Amino acid sequence: MKNQLKKHIKILQELGYEYIYTERGMKKNNLQEKIKKLEEINRIIQECKKCDLYKSRLQAVLGEGNPDAKLMFIGEAPGGDEDKQGRPFVGRAGKLLTRLIEATGHKRDEFYITNICKCRPPGNRTPTPWEMESCFPYLREQIDIIQPKVLCLLGATAARAFLVRHVSITKERGSVVNWENHLLYLTYHPAYILRNQNEEITLFEDIKKAIELAYS
Ligand code: SF4
Repeated sequence: MKNQLKKHIKILQELGYEYIYTERGMKKNNLQEKIKKLEEINRIIQECKKCDLYKSRLQAVLGEGNPDAKLMFIGEAPGGDEDKQGRPFVGRAGKLLTRLIEATGHKRDEFYITNICKCRPPGNRTPTPWEMESCFPYLREQIDIIQPKVLCLLGATAARAFLVRHVSITKERGSVVNWENHLLYLTYHPAYILRNQNEEITLFEDIKKAIELAYS
């Protein structure tokens, strides 16, 4: 986590970023402060026992990427590979996500990638509403720190956590919804595409649109 964040700050410093101006009040805030705040959340979630998922996790997975990203990708929860490595989206679904991001001409490191739940549900089951509700405040803090314009929600479970209603992702993918000071962009979870490969182009187009929206 720390090394990932250090890597991002180095890249951004090389690009000439010195200070960040938040949307809230143009308050001067630098990347180092954002990194410190994210590290603090990471420290807290490693000890968190708010829901029963702590019992079977190897480690909580906060997320990784650019602490100043304009776009966040948000899935539902870590899987086995993520639980072992402590990084989000590093298994088969994560590799597909990375490949599709790169196919748009962008780099995974430009964005921030995380999940609704920070701990792996046993057997990779869908997190329960209680587990998502318990963990959501950590994600909200991450969003408040990073201040992305667009939140790209990967799959129906992530969309449900934000919209607090049933979501049919096949019908609603591609929609843009205002949420607080951010835009939600709904699309498929890459794990769904691994089972329905004919939809890969749809996910690619959605990722491209979410990136365009974030940079527009
Ligand atoms: S999933 Fe979230 S709320 Fe539950 S134990 Fe892990 S960090 Fe805490």
